[in-house]
Formats: sequence, C-alpha cells, structure tokens
Amino acid sequence: MTTPTDKDTSAEHKVSNFLRQIIEKDFEQGTYASRRWAGSPGDAAHHAAGQPDPAKIRTRFPPEPNGYLHVGHAKSICINFGLAKEYGGVCHLRFDDTNPEKEDTEYVNSIIEAVKWLGFSWSQAGNDKPYQASDYFDFMYRAAEALIEAGHAYVDEQSAEDMRTNRGDFVKPGVDSPFRNRTVAENLARFREMRDGKLADGAAVLRAKISMQSPNINMRDPAIYRIRRATHHHTGDTWCIYPMYTFAHPIEDALEQITHSICTLEFEDQRPFYDWLMERLCECGLLAAPSPKQYEFARLNLTYVITSKRKLAQLVNESKVSGWDDPRMPTIVGLRRRGYTPESLRLFADRIGVTKSDSWIDYSTLEGCLREDLENKAHRGMAVLDPVKLVLTNWMDAFGSDSYTEACTQPALPHSAIAEGQTPPADRTFLIGKEVWIEREDFEEVPPKGYKRLSPPQKNADGTASAGAVVRLKGGYVIECTGCARDAAGNVTEVHAKVIPGTKSGTPGADSVKAKAAITWVSVMDGVPAEVRLYDRLFAEAHPDAGGKDFLQSLNPDSLKVVTAYVEPSLAQAQPDQKFQFERFGYFVADRLDHVAGAKPVFNRVTGLKDSWGK
Ligand code: ATP
Ligand code: MG
Repeated sequence: MTTPTDKDTSAEHKVSNFLRQIIEKDFEQGTYASRRWAGSPGDAAHHAAGQPDPAKIRTRFPPEPNGYLHVGHAKSICINFGLAKEYGGVCHLRFDDTNPEKEDTEYVNSIIEAVKWLGFSWSQAGNDKPYQASDYFDFMYRAAEALIEAGHAYVDEQSAEDMRTNRGDFVKPGVDSPFRNRTVAENLARFREMRDGKLADGAAVLRAKISMQSPNINMRDPAIYRIRRATHHHTGDTWCIYPMYTFAHPIEDALEQITHSICTLEFEDQRPFYDWLMERLCECGLLAAPSPKQYEFARLNLTYVITSKRKLAQLVNESKVSGWDDPRMPTIVGLRRRGYTPESLRLFADRIGVTKSDSWIDYSTLEGCLREDLENKAHRGMAVLDPVKLVLTNWMDAFGSDSYTEACTQPALPHSAIAEGQTPPADRTFLIGKEVWIEREDFEEVPPKGYKRLSPPQKNADGTASAGAVVRLKGGYVIECTGCARDAAGNVTEVHAKVIPGTKSGTPGADSVKAKAAITWVSVMDGVPAEVRLYDRLFAEAHPDAGGKDFLQSLNPDSLKVVTAYVEPSLAQAQPDQKFQFERFGYFVADRLDHVAGAKPVFNRVTGLKDSWGK
C-alpha cells in the first residue's frame, strides 16, 4: 500500500540516487509543502477547495494501454511506486490513453494485474480506481482555448509537407508559418471548427506559439492538438480532435498534483516545453502552483532481450512465441509464467539502480536476483530429465522380494536455508525399489578420466581389473555398478548395479561404504512422468536489435526444448506457479496454466543453478 503512513524502512531502499536527492532537497526546501489535494484530480480551483495534501510526494506510472508491460516497465514501476512508498507519498496508476487508435481494454486489464502482481497499490482512501488521461479531455480543451486567448497558440493550416520543411533542423532555424499571426478571435473560431468536425483530418493543427528559431526543435511551435476521426475506447466519438502527447502529459501530471514526474531520457528534450506549458497555464490561473517537475532516468536495456512493445508484438503476431505470456518473453506476464517472482524483479530494480546515462545490464543480473530470491524459498526435489532405467539386480537377495519398496525422506529445504527460529517445512518422502530412473549421462561404460558416476568393472590395459563404481542414490542406498544392457543399435537400455544393504542415508551404516559420488534419481514405483520445458534465452545475440538490424535473425533456435522427465511425488503434487529447485539442474516452476497437480505435471525451467550461459 502506498499510503502516507506506510513508510518503507527496509535497508534495501537506502542506497541514494539522484532522484532521492532531489526529493530530499524538495523536503528540505518545502517545495511542495503548501500543496492541496481535493481527493480527485482537477484544476486550480478544485484543489484550492481541498485539504493540505496528505501525500508528501506524488509520482505516477503512466503506461499507454497499447501492449503488455515488459521488464523495462517493471523498472519504472518499481522506481515510481518505490519512491512514493519510501517517502510517504502516493503513486498514481494512470492510463495515458490520449491516442485513440492503438488502445484496448485487454491491455488496461493486463497492466492493472501486472502492477498489483509486482506488489504495488495505487489505492488512496480506499479508492483504487486508476486514473485515465482521457478523463481530462475537457480540461485539455479548455487549456488549449486559454492558450489561444492569451496569444500562446494558433491554428496552422500549412500542409504537412510545408510544416515539416519550415520546422528547420539542427543547423537550420525554422520559418514562421503564414498562419502564425492570426488574431485570437480567428484562432478561437477556427479551433472550434476543428472541434466541431468542420475540417478534415490533417487539415489543421493547433500549435503552441513559442519560437521557430529555438535551438531546441521541440520548442519550434509544437503541435498540441490534431484532428483525428477515430473512436476512442473510452470516450467513443465525443471528440474528433485529440491532444498531442507533449501537451497532454504535463497537464495530466498537473491535474493529479504530481510532484515528481519521472520518465526515461528520451523525454529530456521535451522538458523545456513541459515547463513552458506549466508556466502559461499557471499564469492564466487554470493550474495550481507549484507545478510538477519532470526528471529523466536511463531506460533499462537488458542484453539478449528486446524491450520495445512494437517488436514484442511482432514476435507474437508472427508466432515466434506462443503469446504475450510465452515464458521466453520479457513481458511481465511472460516472466511470471517463466517463474520469476515479484520479489526477484523488485530486487533487480533495486540492484540496477537509477542513473542518468544509458547502459546495458547483463541478463545474468536478472537471473542472479531470481536465484537469490528462490535460494531459501524453493523446495528441493529430484527429477530425471533424460531418463534411463537402473536395475538393482540383487534386490530380491537383499530384501526378500522384487516388489519390496522402502520409504526415503529428505528435507524440503537444506539446513542453511532455514532462518533461526523458523520451523522447517515437512520432509519429502519417496520410495526406493528394484528399479529407478537415473540420468543417462550418469552412466559411462568406459569412463573418461576423472568420471565419478556409474561405470562397470574395467579391465585395464596392464591386465589388472578395477571394480565397478560405487555411488550413492541420493537420499537412498549406496550401489555398485555391474554393467548394462543394450538394444540392437547399441543404445544403453538398462544400467545394472547391486544395492549394498545397510547403507541407507540417515541410518547408522550410511557411511560404512564410501561412495565416489551421489547421483539424483527417481523410483520407477512412484516417479511421475512430467512435461518439462527447457527454456533458454530467446535471442542468441546480446544486442538483437542493435543498429537497426533485423532482430528476428538473432532468434535462438534452441530457446525451447521439451522433454518427458520423471519427477518425485512431491513435485508431481505441486500447485500451479509453485517454484522448486530440481537438485543439480536449477530452478523450475509448475506452469501456471498447463500444470495439473497430481494429474498432469508441467514444469518450466526458470534458470540454472549457476550462471553458465556462454561458458
Ligand atoms: P515501448 O517503447 O516499449 O512501447 P513506451 O515507453 O512507449 O515503451 P509506455 O506505456 O509509454 O511505453 O511506458 C510507460 C512508462 O514506462 C513510461 O514512463 C516509460 O518511460 C517507462 N518505460 C518504458 N520502457 C522502459 C524501459 N525500457 N526502462 C525503463 N522505463 C521504461
Ligand atoms: Mg510511450
């Protein structure tokens, strides 16, 4: 909850950055101390009638509802909601839905869910309706007329082509439009005709009157309203003129009494216009001073990842992935399905921090945060991903019956993962019997040098013989390898070994025989077949879309491999979305959508145990 009383005191949030310094300086100087808040967004008069604002700062997260949020947005969410929480403020969730064409309620809902899932709330005094910029269209129109009346805006009817030429460029100053010196009355009349649908799309725009000679091209009389006959997902056909983003955004901030409007660096050149507009609208009394201020930070660039909604949409539309929530997608729904936790993404945002210059973050940083979060939380379990059957040939002699089984128990979490005073979770139980599944790679008929897993007795070159390898079935018995069976093609179909009675883990005789290694296994008696989706990075190159290259050429052909594995019963009983550490393999999650506990286990690989990529 981002309520003013709920101050976050966790040590993680203490690293200073330029945004914290700005906020702390504003507190010292009382920049926003006199602000009032009427309980809802509004103009100067509306807020003047309200209370002193109980929120010490107001930030906002303003997505355009035209796609699913991605890991870059997660950074922005953590910054904006995080700062508000930390400093006794409120962060607004606001849909920047001023562009009528590309927006959809499907996206609105997915954004709401993503922000909540990340662990943030925008609720104020029990009201958790997000704001939407399209609610401010009436005010924006009023503001445009106020600018016209004060001589700060004019209707330009140059052709798009002339407007572009006359804007000039970095070396050439712009040229005044022939429409620039229309009278206020003429501008007002023409603007109303725009609004009333008397002019065709594109026939005219309303422009701010600043300076065509400004070295900043964004200050060369930017367009602030355009004609667009399009049905808006919220306001329908009420309007045929729509405000431009550069005009709408500062107004949205001001109506919501935002103090710190935090955005990515590409908006830096827009800041002078932001300030210009705020000053003009305060001068004419429409908005309350002090105005919000814009601050820019470096967007997240993550190696092996694309963070452009347009390109992500292309991956979905061209079926390169199964959807927005494909576990290889860097969308929040994709990361969630892959097995990322809200905690790991918040930790990631904290760790990468906030800077003012662009840089690339290595993908392994993100994976590292996930491992750190799951290390002490994810229950352990055994799974065999590339199974071959191991037969304990002396089982009958050792235990009196081929069908004899024995229960084994192992801790769900290692001792090191249990905090002091915390009750450890219940042990896992699984069976051992005559036949178990082991990894195919855990047997070598002729072992390479240094191989510690299963291999049969060897005849050495010097005529001597060495015994079969002795290893422990982890949590079970010590066994001695005797050989294998092969099919006609020479493939190993069974590995053979002898069980050594009296050596079971956790019994007094456990250490009576020394094992060279402990291998993971799952019994044929109670192991459950499971679909395991071995995900890897979607792109094989660190910078898939660098220099405008076709990112589809960099797709990693091995980003998904599906295997049928055997898992121990505790894993088969997992709840959807439950995370585990498969011993020796890394972190896996029961797929949120496809896994059915007990009946149809489906797991996604989140990440390996160590950073092994490219090694
Ligand atoms: P995209 O380029 O992927 O379409 P966008 O900037 O158009 O992203 P918006 O919905 O406008 O998407 O973004 C909402 C907020 O998220 C903005 O404040 C934007 O600056 C921020 N944001 C978007 N991408 C990133 C990123 N890669 N890193 C940090 N913040 C980001
Ligand atoms: Mg945008």
